[in-house]
Amino acid sequence: MSEGFIDELHNALGKGAVLSGSDIDARYHHDIGGNPAPKPRAVVRPRTTEDVSVLLRLCHREGVPVTTQGGMTGLVRATLPNADEIVLSMERMNNVEEVDVSAGVAIAQAGTPLQKLQERVEQDGLMFPLDLGARGSCTIGGNISTNAGGNRVIRYGMTRDLILGLEVVTADGTVLRGLRKYIKNNTGIDLKQLFIGSEGILGVVTRAALRVFPAPAERQVALCALPSFGQVMAFLKLAQQRLGGELTAFEAMWNAYYRQTVERVKGVAGPLPTNHPFYVLLEASGSDAERIHADLEQLLETAMGDDLILDATLSTSNASAAAIWRIRDSSVELGRSFPFAARMGFDISVAIDRMEEYADTLDARVKAIDPQAFTIVMGHVGDGNLHPSVYHEHTPDKHDEFEKLVYDLTGEFGGSISAEHGIGISRRPYLKMSRTEEEIETMRALKRALDPKNILNPGRIFTV
Ligand SMILES: Cc1cc2nc3c(=O)[nH]c(=O)nc-3n(C[C@H](O)[C@H](O)[C@H](O)COP(=O)(O)OP(=O)(O)OC[C@H]3O[C@@H](n4cnc5c(N)ncnc54)[C@H](O)[C@@H]3O)c2cc1C
Repeated sequence: MSEGFIDELHNALGKGAVLSGSDIDARYHHDIGGNPAPKPRAVVRPRTTEDVSVLLRLCHREGVPVTTQGGMTGLVRATLPNADEIVLSMERMNNVEEVDVSAGVAIAQAGTPLQKLQERVEQDGLMFPLDLGARGSCTIGGNISTNAGGNRVIRYGMTRDLILGLEVVTADGTVLRGLRKYIKNNTGIDLKQLFIGSEGILGVVTRAALRVFPAPAERQVALCALPSFGQVMAFLKLAQQRLGGELTAFEAMWNAYYRQTVERVKGVAGPLPTNHPFYVLLEASGSDAERIHADLEQLLETAMGDDLILDATLSTSNASAAAIWRIRDSSVELGRSFPFAARMGFDISVAIDRMEEYADTLDARVKAIDPQAFTIVMGHVGDGNLHPSVYHEHTPDKHDEFEKLVYDLTGEFGGSISAEHGIGISRRPYLKMSRTEEEIETMRALKRALDPKNILNPGRIFTV
């Protein structure tokens, strides 16, 4: 980087857009747990797509690496800068620019927090279905770049399924103006797909055209207790048959998750006893409140009659629905109730009919390393996605061994080492467990074509 480059950025982007030296706040180089990374050379906070383009054109000319930051809620160390990097923070591009009710489309800047978008479209009787625990902080650009999943994938799909068009700035500052609002567009390669889920290594998303849907008039939640994982699978099938498009979530919790969350997380109350082998949180929503109630009650009656479920409770108000969701959404708080160095969280995909075998094998192999270590499992079972955690308080030095064990096992089961959160830096060594050498080489070829100087999020996902 030439001397005077930061001054050049100041001149090109204006005061307030570029922070350097002591003006750089700690939040730009600390992770979600407060752990520090090196201070970047500068933090740039654009207000417009043109600003992003100017910044990248200059960085491309100088070969200066850039780390793009959304809400920094990603869990794979992707947004933490190196000392030679410039941070591109999207925090000032945070507006919902348009809500087109008739077309069912919202246009948002990439730095818009997810919850802000959800609340804005609600004012027009609409819903943006993407929803996750980090909704208050994560941004639309981060959601797109990680192809976020979350709680309603079973009904509405991943973020990829909610994107109609994208505006993206590539590494040399070129603006790809693909902010189209229509579903059907077979006019050659669908370029937006390159930028969805590629963790910011191919371009910076600046604006997005997003699908929004009529907000359901009613949302009802049931918490059920089940005797075995076989019954969990049978109950899922029955719920899909009986509820069809009304089924918006099907989340499974192994006994240890439910019991420990109820016992350890402050403010969480368990409406069912803690001794059942499995629990399922099921959500149904739709436009006809009476029908939702009737369908859900009938489903539970049939499931009880068929001995699929042992016990169940239904939400009677928004507050009771939120209290049930609180159990499922407390995974981070549960993790934090154990010592930091002794807990590890994963998000993997594996075929639903092998989930129980996966969980049991994982627990047995964890105990073979440390008999006092244990696993806690829950997940978006309806989407084939598990979130197993490993707790190893007495063997903190075995972190790498446990990590390898989980990813090796996922490879053995033909699963994905990342269902939702991405690869970033922390999972890079294990990418080969889920992708072939040829696939990774093709990813590298795309990276070289779009970012020949390797300035965008270098080292994330793979090295070039
Ligand atoms: C409590 C909690 C619950 C969570 N639950 C879920 C869940 O259910 N499902 C799920 O999928 N994830 C979940 N996550 C992970 C995380 O919230 C998501 O990955 C989210 O999409 C990240 O958004 P962000 O704005 O924070 O992105 P960041 O963390 O800032 O960035 C993530 C990646 O995207 C890149 N990026 C960010 N903005 C842009 C942009 N505009 N252009 C190009 N690249 C960009 C970054 O460089 C980085 O590689 C959870 C996290 C927490 C803390």
